[in-house]
Amino acid sequence: MTAASQTLGIRAIRSVPLFGESPKGGWSAEIKPEDTIHALIAVHTDGGPIGYGSVFTDARLVAAALKVLEPLYLGENALEPARVSEKLHQNSFWMGRGGSLTHTISGIDIALWDILGKVTGMSVGRLVGGRHRERVQPYCSLLMEEPGRMHDVIADYRARGFTAFKIGWGPFGRAMDARLDEAIVAAARRAAGDRARLFVDAGASDAYWPHGLKWALRTAEMLKDHDVGWFEEALKPDAIDDFVELRRQSPVPIAGGEVLTRRQAFLPWLARGAFDIVQPDVTKVGGLSEQRRIAWMAEEFGVRYVGHGWNTALGVAADLQLATALPNVDLVEFIGGSPYVDGITAEPFRLDAEGWLQIPDRPGLGVDIDRDKLARYTDDPAPLFA
Ligand SMILES: [Mg+2]
Repeated sequence: MTAASQTLGIRAIRSVPLFGESPKGGWSAEIKPEDTIHALIAVHTDGGPIGYGSVFTDARLVAAALKVLEPLYLGENALEPARVSEKLHQNSFWMGRGGSLTHTISGIDIALWDILGKVTGMSVGRLVGGRHRERVQPYCSLLMEEPGRMHDVIADYRARGFTAFKIGWGPFGRAMDARLDEAIVAAARRAAGDRARLFVDAGASDAYWPHGLKWALRTAEMLKDHDVGWFEEALKPDAIDDFVELRRQSPVPIAGGEVLTRRQAFLPWLARGAFDIVQPDVTKVGGLSEQRRIAWMAEEFGVRYVGHGWNTALGVAADLQLATALPNVDLVEFIGGSPYVDGITAEPFRLDAEGWLQIPDRPGLGVDIDRDKLARYTDDPAPLFA
């Protein structure tokens, strides 16, 4: 590469909201289809490729954050993702670090890595760590349903080829009925089959989660009987002491961390032994630059890393690239039936015969946003294109 090509100016950064078919979240204040909880970001460069990223936040906040950050990124070198992202973090911490600004920097950072890949002709995974594997097992994330319906939903996704499943939120724990909780898990296990991997997510980061440590311990014992691979968000998201105790006593692995942002926030959770599995969200924590550091920190503490970027096709694409760039990743989260994942790219993700996903090895993130398809879920896709 010549000296001249080592600089590529950032000309503009634009975002668009995704709305119209936002999947249910199982939250107490349920997401409505017209709500925008995801935004896509495009970084435009001076004559170079456009890079794409994704942010798990209301698009109005993303648009405002881009305005605030604009003086810091305009004219910056798009070929230095880690440095430019760190510059944005360092110069904005006093305005609410960890919140909308950090979320938005995540999308910018992912897009910058996409650009660097496109310019160098290398996949992002190779750039951020190398290529440890060619494919990875996706687990199909599904909302909890009443037992009969839960069985049918899992059976449907099993028939589509998935071999790992996670069920979460919905009535679990919230109906204050331990028998119902167990019946839901039993129905899911029956439908998934003995050989499938099955995980359970209480979703205790929902508003007014009604339970504490004792419930979590009792429920963990029940989950063991159904061969559940991990128990996720079993406690309120700030209850670090209880998480430490739960991990110590639980017969099933304890997972969490999807609501934390910035690498610094993860440190006490890892150092104190609060998780067996940590699940940072690449579209919230600060992007690939930050996620990579969190995942490596987890590795040093003997904690498994599983990415949480399932919200859009670009989030999944970033998770797939990290799944190959890190030494010990065996799963990626994959939401069942979201048009924002399956319906906005030129080539949808496809499971292989064993229910695994190939990890793209094309330049950049390895997915192409399809303008016509995207137009179904946003008013005007133009800001994302040249
Ligand atoms: Mg979760």
